[in-house]
Amino acid sequence: MSFIVAIDGTAGSGKGTVSKLIAEKFNLCNIDTGATYRCLALNVLENNIEIENKEKIIKLLENINIDIQGTNSNPIFLLNGRDVSNKIRNKEVTDIVSQISSIPEVRLKLVDWQREFAKNKNVILDGRDIGTFVFPNANVKIYLDASAEKRAERRYEENIEKGINTSFEEVLENIKMRDKQDKEKEIGALKIADDATVIDTTNLSIEEVVDKIEKIIEEKFVKG
Ligand code: C5P
Repeated sequence: MSFIVAIDGTAGSGKGTVSKLIAEKFNLCNIDTGATYRCLALNVLENNIEIENKEKIIKLLENINIDIQGTNSNPIFLLNGRDVSNKIRNKEVTDIVSQISSIPEVRLKLVDWQREFAKNKNVILDGRDIGTFVFPNANVKIYLDASAEKRAERRYEENIEKGINTSFEEVLENIKMRDKQDKEKEIGALKIADDATVIDTTNLSIEEVVDKIEKIIEEKFVKG
């Protein structure tokens, strides 16, 4: 039997960073589910497909092959065998990924991929719908949130570090747009699972968030 930790929440709430640290600590396989949608979004851009052209996007899914290699702290995302780990974080991808991931056929196919990749492993998955849709029976469910301004501040600083050139206002606008689109999705909308522990990370450091989640996991995983 595998052990499943679901980390859901809004964009920029700290899911990715926290998941990597928790994965290391408990030796779990870390699956960044947002990256699977980002791979498809990148492929849509590379094929010059209009984001309104759902039929072509759904068709593209037939020939898409996603894989995660590397380590938990340094994952490598492969799209049809090509390392796209950096490209999937581009502004162009970030701008369209929410809309692409709203297409029900896209979600069903990528959720299948996520379940298959997680099979027979002890895993931590971060996303929007892990505890509500992908793994409703997950052993631990966490929902992270923070004020939109704080989340934009974090993303903006991350972008500067990575050399991605965007203004704070642009980042804030994108975060608010994604929040809205993620909450209105037909399938897998962003919402808090009934049995999730909600953590507001606005005024917490990464260490404090990790510490809280570690205690919850220790209760269920280590002590059984
Ligand atoms: O987590 P990240 O910001 O990389 O996710 C990119 C986008 O993918 C999100 O804005 C969201 O629209 C979508 N997503 C999703 N379901 C998930 C993970 C991400 O719809 N489980």
